[in-house]
Amino acid sequence: MRFTVAIDGPAAAGKGTISRKVAEHFGFAHLDTGLIYRATGARVLDGQDPLKAAAFLRAEDLDRDDLRTPEVADAASRIAAVPEVRDALINFQRDFAGRDGGAVLDGRDIGTVICPDADVKLFVTASPEIRAERRYQELSAKGLDVTRDGVLEDVNARDARDAARAAAPMKAAEDAVMIDTSELSIDDAVAAAIKQIEAVRNKTT
Ligand code: C5P
Repeated sequence: MRFTVAIDGPAAAGKGTISRKVAEHFGFAHLDTGLIYRATGARVLDGQDPLKAAAFLRAEDLDRDDLRTPEVADAASRIAAVPEVRDALINFQRDFAGRDGGAVLDGRDIGTVICPDADVKLFVTASPEIRAERRYQELSAKGLDVTRDGVLEDVNARDARDAARAAAPMKAAEDAVMIDTSELSIDDAVAAAIKQIEAVRNKTT
């Protein structure tokens, strides 16, 4: 059985948590596509050429423990604007989406470019202040030396770059369902996503 769920949205809107929990709920595989861009960005920070870093990305690169730092997030968003880098990463994502047993992919362009035929498309968002506060809590809990203002600036800069780039900009697909998590608990946001997916599954099975 092939069933693809595309979950897009800006930084720290909650799409990672929602995607993980939705995948667990339905027994689907989950791919956080941001990790692919972060791993490529991290290799570029190590001094590699962006195109080579993307073309020769290895599975173990996704396990690096520095991928969640603001520096790597920034590098990821810069290399993600290069069309050839994006092209080099398409097949891996599409192969994952087409696997048997169902797949959830989260990112910025899953519903628009990677899986335009996804069975369910969600666009998860929240106000910039709330997203920055969540990211601040997450990074400071990991012991990283960050400030609220600094995180808000980083999140806004990254969103602006991701939305304005010519190659696969971050945007909701026309047929995506919006979930604004500003005022929702994690459980409520996950329940909203599950409800959308159930509705489609009930129609197709
Ligand atoms: O989702 P995450 O914050 O980990 O993504 C890091 C960066 O990778 C984003 O800011 C974006 O520039 C890029 N990205 C992308 N397309 C995706 C996933 C992530 O351009 N599908």
